[in-house]
Amino acid sequence: MPLVSMRQLLDEAAKGGYGVGAFNVNDMEQIQAIMAAAKETNSPVVIQASRGARAFAQDRFLFHLILAASELYPEIPIAMHQDHGNSFETCKSAIELGYTSVMMDGSLKEDGKTPSSFEENVAVTKKVVDFAHARGVTVEGEIGVLGGIEDGHGAGGSGLEHVTDPDQAVEFAELTGVDALAIAIGTSHGAYKFSKKPDGSVLKMDVLIAIHKRLPNTHLVMHGSSSVPKDLQDIVNQYGGKLKETWGVPVEEIQLGIRNGVRKINVDTDNRLAMTGAIRKVLWTQPEKFDPRDYMKPAREAMQKVVALRMTQFGQAGHAGDYAPISIAEIAKGYADGTLTTQPLVAAK
Ligand SMILES: [Zn+2]
Repeated sequence: MPLVSMRQLLDEAAKGGYGVGAFNVNDMEQIQAIMAAAKETNSPVVIQASRGARAFAQDRFLFHLILAASELYPEIPIAMHQDHGNSFETCKSAIELGYTSVMMDGSLKEDGKTPSSFEENVAVTKKVVDFAHARGVTVEGEIGVLGGIEDGHGAGGSGLEHVTDPDQAVEFAELTGVDALAIAIGTSHGAYKFSKKPDGSVLKMDVLIAIHKRLPNTHLVMHGSSSVPKDLQDIVNQYGGKLKETWGVPVEEIQLGIRNGVRKINVDTDNRLAMTGAIRKVLWTQPEKFDPRDYMKPAREAMQKVVALRMTQFGQAGHAGDYAPISIAEIAKGYADGTLTTQPLVAAK
């Protein structure tokens, strides 16, 4: 199957009432793990690359690896997504490479660290929306600022410093016409999200529900949504790792989000932990091993297991065959003639 527009993938998820995991990749084994899980569970999927990933693997390598996935698994709809674009140029380069979706994270300035003003965010996001939609490419924006730093991107600090204001979220969606909206509800990037199992004082699901009520047709995105399960932390530490105790976003909270408009859930840390735990285990218990395949194979299998579990928990499992892909050119027409607009849906009601 050719790569699919993320807009189509998320529209279908909304129709079916499920969420879609968006998994970060840097290398071949991670892409293979995701695709094996998608096949195992018959799931549509978002494969995403951060700026850091694009630099690590080099653009052409990563692009062609994801393209290979779409060739080898013609039955699986795949959207190729730029995670946390920091500027118009980053998004433009992804679109020109062939990504079917981009995130313009205008919540931060181009340095990827300093929170920007609402006006700056609207201006740069709208510029990306105009460029992307003319080419049939989906755009995710962000309003509010997440906590933590990952791949050198992020404002740092706790996730509670810039929780999304629902009024601003509505205004932002109307002014920019984004297809999907990442909101800040207390989560952070990286492994260290919460210092205890999160409750409503630190994980603001009420804010998410309030935003969805007012923006029922904008797909909401949860970032920093690894669950950071204790068993994965334990494997890393059992074989010589030194992770500090930490809590992620419980799966049941993500499922509550999915019942309230969350269509895309970003997961990276859980996969990193699974791979690292598997590699550590081999190298720790069998120190005579030196063939990378001896530890990359179990690492890939460990990641596949986590991804398949998340696909089942998010509800995307079983939905890969629900629809035929709409070409990117058709999607572009939909944006041009207004059938795919997300704008003043709230005002019109
Ligand atoms: Zn993120």
